[in-house]
Amino acid sequence: MYDVVVIGGGVTGCMIARELSRYDIRVILLEKEEDVACGTSKANSAVIHAGFDAKPGTWKAKMNVRGNALFPGICAELDVPYKNNGSLVVAVDEGEIKVLDKLMNQGKENGVPGLKIIGHDELMKMEPNLNPAAKAALYASTAGIVCPYEFTVALAENAAQNDVEFRFNSPVMEIMVQNDGFIIKTPHGAVKARFVINAAGLFSDEISKMAGAEEYTITPRKGEYLIFDKNFGHLVKRVIFPTPSEKSKGILVCPTVDGNVFIGPNSNDIKDKTDVGVTREGIEEIIEGGKKLVPHLPLSGVITSFAGLRAVSNTNDFIIEASRKVKGFVNVGGIQSPGLTSAPAIAETVIEILKEEGMDLIEKPGFVPTRPRKYRFREMDNAMRQKLIEENPAFGHVICRCETVTEAEIVDAIKRPLGAKSLDGVKRRTRAGMGRCQGGFCSSRVLSILARELKLDPRQITKCGPGSEILKGGYKEFIAEGDENKFLNAQDVESLSWKGGEASVM
Ligand SMILES: Cc1cc2nc3c(=O)[nH]c(=O)nc-3n(C[C@H](O)[C@H](O)[C@H](O)COP(=O)(O)OP(=O)(O)OC[C@H]3O[C@@H](n4cnc5c(N)ncnc54)[C@H](O)[C@@H]3O)c2cc1C
Repeated sequence: MYDVVVIGGGVTGCMIARELSRYDIRVILLEKEEDVACGTSKANSAVIHAGFDAKPGTWKAKMNVRGNALFPGICAELDVPYKNNGSLVVAVDEGEIKVLDKLMNQGKENGVPGLKIIGHDELMKMEPNLNPAAKAALYASTAGIVCPYEFTVALAENAAQNDVEFRFNSPVMEIMVQNDGFIIKTPHGAVKARFVINAAGLFSDEISKMAGAEEYTITPRKGEYLIFDKNFGHLVKRVIFPTPSEKSKGILVCPTVDGNVFIGPNSNDIKDKTDVGVTREGIEEIIEGGKKLVPHLPLSGVITSFAGLRAVSNTNDFIIEASRKVKGFVNVGGIQSPGLTSAPAIAETVIEILKEEGMDLIEKPGFVPTRPRKYRFREMDNAMRQKLIEENPAFGHVICRCETVTEAEIVDAIKRPLGAKSLDGVKRRTRAGMGRCQGGFCSSRVLSILARELKLDPRQITKCGPGSEILKGGYKEFIAEGDENKFLNAQDVESLSWKGGEASVM
């Protein structure tokens, strides 16, 4: 019997799990994918918003401002890079200046510090690559950027260190309400718990319905992106927004904490909660939007594209509440933007809700707020690199050349609490495969290291969990006798029969 089961291992569920791990209770997190941060929390703008966008009095407004204040401290505790670089909402025509005033007043009402309107000359000095037609901007000094999957992984690692159990590849299929709690069924068995926290992102409406709790709907709202090579990391220093629309904060030009710049996202409601495909029309839309802010976008420097889905509830606000219909069930749904920023505040709120619902929460003495040190070879000076290589020669073996990720870092990512089990798991923890060649060079090497460290056959290593195995079979298995020099193409690989062998074909 667990005290709490958290459904969903995105930033919301992992932040809640980490908060719960401060207390003397048994907590388990169930996640349908093979790792944390496989949903919306891996594909967003990664901005820690200041908090002027949301209407005063809404959950979004309250959680955003409080979350923004808590973020730097949590990142420092968990050794997650965070940059307080500020944001600018840029008005490119006279009409938009009124919008800046409205946002500033709204921000003040929400309690956002450090807001000011700046004029054209100051703006161009701050961001020389901006559209020279820019008239003015709202500057927010408290905005920042973070890596959303690194943050989520760090929360999960720390929760696991503090005894939260994580069960992956475990989609919740049924929730049975009992007198003393719940039985939650997954394909790998059932879990009994007194309280259920529903943090299932895009699927939170379905989980709520499963438990017989309040009904609401979640509509996926797609946002597409293009990322530029690090050579263009100087394009902008701050988060650059256009003036917002009713539906979204608009298409930004924005630096990442790891030194790239991206453009996006657009904002289109779709039907399929799993459709994260990037479209031609979407790309055209974000290029047009990006050029409004920075006219000379280096489009030849685009290294990849991706899309994320906002979980938009029919209330158009976050839903953070104990069910009035099912005692012990807490909904944390509709966590669209600014859900990343708000995660720390949402977790605080959930703790308060659990207390109100009668849960005894006694802090445990042994809570460890930090996680094991993480080495980032690419950020070190040569003296430090030399020292590390002397201690562990695997630091001298660079596996991902684009992002300078060493074998020692990849082994560490696999061996840490809740370590990586797939290529994408390594990527989220180390950035191996995130550079200009997008894993063209390092994927096979990372795969070999995963197989060696996890003591698995290389054919069992996946990109992102069951069903995404990368290797089809051994080289010798696909080559007819006397035909060893034959060049294999994809059709040959598919058509040849399995014979058992040594080397493998990707
Ligand atoms: C385009 C875009 C831009 C954004 N930009 C920003 C931004 O700049 N700043 C900001 O603050 N916010 C931003 N957001 C919002 C932010 O990304 C989300 O609010 C946040 O990631 C939501 O986290 P989550 O944990 O609630 O959901 P998710 O990350 O989706 O996690 C939910 C998890 O539940 C799991 N799950 C679902 N069903 C089940 C089941 N049946 N059983 C078990 N597990 C299940 C899923 O696999 C998933 O891992 C943006 C979002 C998008 C899409």
